[in-house]
Amino acid sequence: MKKPDIDIGACTLCMGCVEVCPEVFRQNDSGYIEVIDLQKYSEKDIDDAIMFCPEDCISWQEE
Ligand code: SF4
Repeated sequence: MKKPDIDIGACTLCMGCVEVCPEVFRQNDSGYIEVIDLQKYSEKDIDDAIMFCPEDCISWQEE
């Protein structure tokens, strides 16, 4: 299954992905952005978040 992945080292915590797609991305207790575990991810929503991310740190990962 395809799953979005975040390069935490490149993320600047701009919160853009959380605003665009709050059902998939959230800020965890440690302060980092994480991907919420879902059965299925909307290709369009994730592609929007990938386009929106100013640091290009969101990508698709094949699991
Ligand atoms: S849009 Fe990119 S840089 Fe901004 S919080 Fe999300 S992953 Fe981090």
